[in-house]
Amino acid sequence: MHASKIDLYHDLIEHLRRIVGRRDRNSLNQALVLTVGSIFGAAQTTLLRIVHHCGTDYVIPCVIRSGASEIFKDVYLASPQDGYPLDSREDYVVCCRARAPMSFRRAETEIHLFPLEHRDEVYAVLELQRDRPLEASEEHLMEDVLGLFLDHLALIDYAETDTLTGLLNRKTFDENLSRMLAHAGSDDGGEGGGEGSERGASPGRRHLKPGEVSNWLAMADIDHFKRINDEHGHIIGDEVLLLIAQAMRRSFRFNDQLFRFGGEEFVSVLQLTDRDDARHVLERFRKHIEEAVFPIVGRVTISIGFTRVDDLDTPTELVGRADQALYFAKRNGRNRVECYEDLVASGQYVVAHPARPAVELF
Ligand code: GH3
Ligand code: MG
Ligand code: MG
Repeated sequence: MHASKIDLYHDLIEHLRRIVGRRDRNSLNQALVLTVGSIFGAAQTTLLRIVHHCGTDYVIPCVIRSGASEIFKDVYLASPQDGYPLDSREDYVVCCRARAPMSFRRAETEIHLFPLEHRDEVYAVLELQRDRPLEASEEHLMEDVLGLFLDHLALIDYAETDTLTGLLNRKTFDENLSRMLAHAGSDDGGEGGGEGSERGASPGRRHLKPGEVSNWLAMADIDHFKRINDEHGHIIGDEVLLLIAQAMRRSFRFNDQLFRFGGEEFVSVLQLTDRDDARHVLERFRKHIEEAVFPIVGRVTISIGFTRVDDLDTPTELVGRADQALYFAKRNGRNRVECYEDLVASGQYVVAHPARPAVELF
């Protein structure tokens, strides 16, 4: 084989290894932008996430690379505030609707847009800017690279989700929680200032102010689920788990992360909301389940405990507080939502779960 051809293959394989060597969405997105930018000699390459939130589609730039400089946003923690309404960009709207690549010229720059589909929806757009249009052969190569990227994304998706419910799995919960706490702790430090401690809370936890925006961790557990299994069998029990997961998806926002924590326990991380809104969302979910009629089983209820995410938390402390609030809900009639901080503030003692050792996450 000709030496220059070998060099070309070698370069291409190096580029592709960058993509298939990644194990999470963030670094996969970065690898795609870097690879595409360097293969096609782009002046600027941008990966834009398209998300649906409260009836509006938003564009959130996740990775922007021009030359050696890169702006990066963690896709697991992204919220609509990090972007802008899709409607404000007609070119992106057209690309998403057509579900097909498009290109146009703006001033001296040729702009190429590629829609990325996952689970039958356009979830992102890749934008490439350079001084001349892509040739037909380059467009084919781009299709191949994007195909490889999407295949690898499907693998990551498979590794991150629970097969029965399609929610994120326990492993992903552990990883995301660690990253979220590290991220919160490295912020401006405005949260865990240690101005005082609430009774029963960890030393250094800050007092909550009414209406304060924060992240919240909620743990939901199906009431008397053992009975459902005993009376109707495990297959019907599994069906209930699936239906509850679907109801959960409908009740929460796109950036509230939803996990199957264990057998019939679910966890959600509600991002940037105040305590009343968190309670409202969780009450709505509880009510959805209470009012639903499950095939064969009939009525099912859930209990929920939730707590504020504090910068100074360890994963074990955080999950432990939600678990205690959940246990309080179980001991006080089930089918209810309890907030750990409210229980502590109102002087109601939360009894530690006797049958359950401290949750060990790592
Ligand atoms: P409580 O209201 O106190 O939560 O009562 P419970 O019966 O739900 O309590 P417990 O946690 O003791 O029982 C949970 C049951 O969930 C036990 C187990 O058989 C069942 N379970 C766990 N994972 C699965 C699963 O994947 N599928 C099915 N069908 N059942 C499961
Ligand atoms: Mg349980
Ligand atoms: Mg249960």
